[in-house]
Amino acid sequence: MSRILAITNQKGGVGKTTSAVNLAAGLAQAGKRVLLIDLDPQGNATMGCGVDKQALGRSVYHLLLGHAELEDVRVTTEHGFDILPANRELGGAEVELIEVEHREVRLRLALDNVRQQYDFVLIDCPPALNMLTLNGLAAADGVVIPMQCEYYALEGLTDLVNTLRKVRLAINPRIEIDGLLRTLYDPRSTLAQQVVAQLAQHFGDKVFKTVIPRNIRLAEAPSFGQPIFSYDKSSRGAQAYRELADELIARFGK
Ligand code: ADP
Ligand code: MG
Repeated sequence: MSRILAITNQKGGVGKTTSAVNLAAGLAQAGKRVLLIDLDPQGNATMGCGVDKQALGRSVYHLLLGHAELEDVRVTTEHGFDILPANRELGGAEVELIEVEHREVRLRLALDNVRQQYDFVLIDCPPALNMLTLNGLAAADGVVIPMQCEYYALEGLTDLVNTLRKVRLAINPRIEIDGLLRTLYDPRSTLAQQVVAQLAQHFGDKVFKTVIPRNIRLAEAPSFGQPIFSYDKSSRGAQAYRELADELIARFGK
């Protein structure tokens, strides 16, 4: 059985896209069949995999609005996994979906027939709680929440937990928090250590053991259209995402 994971946090710049791309690559390297879905009109995940977002014929936008089949949107990357790419056109879906029936579950319906082709489906959500993110949450079995260990992080987390409660009641009763992922971590920061302690207190074993360090190689890789394993496989960032992939595989098996 595949696991569909929404990588989400309404805050921008916390490492959602970096985690989505590198986790997709890490799971693929471990021999898993992976589909990455770019749900952000910024198209950063798309570019980060080496797919030119300007040159797309069909994208997630067409899929959500029923203008294309999944097979027409899907691209096989050079990195061992598939992607449903996006670009700024997807921003229009927000308004256009208002007119459409079952607007929150368009992605879930589109994935129904293909999820069995994959071990993991990863959804890179935009930094907002909008109709696109709702589609991601409706389609997911679980959420992975990347977060930077800073002062306002816990406040944002409370909002997200409340949102997930509403989503559970209204559109997706099965959704779980699969894990909180500490990103951009700087072990020298006392504040970060305090936030980590609080996280452990509130969320216990929902916090992934793996910590993603702040690592310049992770920030450089996207400009070459490469996941970290192609760009610098011996970097600390690569090591961390390899560990995270192993942690997910241990949890969801196969
Ligand atoms: P989000 O998708 O949540 O907005 P991104 O993954 O795009 O966040 O990350 C925001 C910025 O931080 C990007 O420029 C990215 O390259 C950089 N970044 C993300 N994770 C790391 C990390 N662990 N170390 C260094 N830079 C990172
Ligand atoms: Mg992003």
